[in-house]
Amino acid sequence: EIILVTGVQTCALPICSIAINKPGDDPDAPAYGESSGIDFDAYEDIPVETTGKDCPEPIKLFADIDWGAAINRNIERCKFKTPTPVQKYAIPISLKRRDLMACAQTGSGKTAAFCFPIIHGIIDRGLQAPRGGRKTFPIALVLSPTRELASQINEEAIKVLKFHNLQSQVVFGGTNIKSERNRMSSQRCDFLVATPGRLIDHFESSGLVPKCANLKVLVLDEADQLLEMGFKPSIDKILSFIPRQRQTLLFSATVPGTVKQIAANALRPGYAYVDCVGEEDSATNTQVTQWLTAAPLDDHLPLLVQLVNMHQSANPVEHKVICFFPTARATQLAAELFIALGQDVTEIHSRKSQGHRTKAADAFRAAKKGVMMSSDVSARGLDYPDVTLVVQVGLPSSREQYIHRLGRTARAGKKGEGLLLLAPHEEFFTRQLKDLPITAAPAAVDPDVLSNVNNALRRVDNRTK
Ligand code: AMP
Repeated sequence: EIILVTGVQTCALPICSIAINKPGDDPDAPAYGESSGIDFDAYEDIPVETTGKDCPEPIKLFADIDWGAAINRNIERCKFKTPTPVQKYAIPISLKRRDLMACAQTGSGKTAAFCFPIIHGIIDRGLQAPRGGRKTFPIALVLSPTRELASQINEEAIKVLKFHNLQSQVVFGGTNIKSERNRMSSQRCDFLVATPGRLIDHFESSGLVPKCANLKVLVLDEADQLLEMGFKPSIDKILSFIPRQRQTLLFSATVPGTVKQIAANALRPGYAYVDCVGEEDSATNTQVTQWLTAAPLDDHLPLLVQLVNMHQSANPVEHKVICFFPTARATQLAAELFIALGQDVTEIHSRKSQGHRTKAADAFRAAKKGVMMSSDVSARGLDYPDVTLVVQVGLPSSREQYIHRLGRTARAGKKGEGLLLLAPHEEFFTRQLKDLPITAAPAAVDPDVLSNVNNALRRVDNRTK
């Protein structure tokens, strides 16, 4: 057992004594969503702020809008009973074809918040191609920072486009561009979800520019991450390829100055602004129990094994752990160590092929329990339901990165735990987190775990070490 010394008291590591709320605790909780199981009731209290001239009133119910029979049937089929906060505010603004910047996290129902109004606009303008028509060109373009997120948006879009004789396609790097080109020119493509680099390739070499002449809506999703990943020049380029006369909807979990700059460039002046996050880290503050352990670098892997084991023992039926590492190599080493120890772990980082990453992300999303080792490809936006613990090993690149990684747990009102594992010389970073409720939790390596880890490390491929 790990013994912790906090002040003068000695206690067992709190991580194993914290109860994680389990889905099913509340037998009356509505079974929302086709796949998410997210308890949106817990979202009701989130304060929402709107700014902008003549913003329409938020809706309370989907029925407050005259959607028409087809969309109504679709909302019902998706089992969406009440709109989520971002939907309540963003839908009426978007239906008015106003430009919008919305501060909201993924997992908060953003995709439907932009899809339903776009579908409504398509039907309203009579832009639907005749049933059976095999080819169409994009009416809506959704830009997403990562391949994983793009796939997730595409799946959600497919879900809500069903029944409307509309089709969504996704394009992203790391896959065969030729087959994407063929798919886009042989099948309907009313919605196009894309990562920036691959989209530019298609603009420059697949004749996509004239095909986008009828584009009516641009969605910039996770704009803060797009910018953090250095996509500003790509966004500028993409804006130069698509019609200026369009509606632009920008979603971002945070709104730093760089996002405001992009908004000033991409959105029409007078755009509406909806803030569904409130305090940048209000969710982090209230719903995630956070621990900090400082320990010598050599202790990190055994401590990680120890802490994950304890969390698993404390939550044997439902535990879902994501461990973040600063590099792909460190991620791979941890994954191979856990595998050598006989644990089944999911591994996501840039050393793995796109096919592997997609499969691994899907399996982890669907799993009731599991451990995922990830570099920052999973840090933002991606919605993995029911993550109970996020461990961050080593320095996060920034305060924002810490918060966003932590945001993989406690999603949509649920509770979760976060642990930051730093080397003593990295502790300076906590000055940036001073206002967050983080409790110091020193921990000592259990000698048995250490010897198991050392034995297992001998079995890990030398090329990884
Ligand atoms: P998103 O933030 O778009 O990734 O959505 C997260 C999950 O919430 C998806 O599984 C959606 O199907 C689901 N969802 C979106 N809107 C609603 C709603 N109003 N009620 C219930 N589930 C929803």
